[in-house]
Amino acid sequence: MNVTRMAGHTLPNEGRIYVNSYRQLIGPAVCSCGDQSEDLPSDSARRKWHRDHKQQKATADR
Ligand SMILES: [Zn+2]
Repeated sequence: MNVTRMAGHTLPNEGRIYVNSYRQLIGPAVCSCGDQSEDLPSDSARRKWHRDHKQQKATADR
């Protein structure tokens, strides 16, 4: 199953965290469900993490 959208799992601001109100280019991706990745070097790395994250959740739910 290819999961592109899942309720409760979104990636606001490309998943970037804010430090002193600046979006961090390098840092963890943070899903709206509260899960967080390791530090990642780019938006595309964070999007990939989020895809895998949703895939894992979808597998775990079934
Ligand atoms: Zn999530």
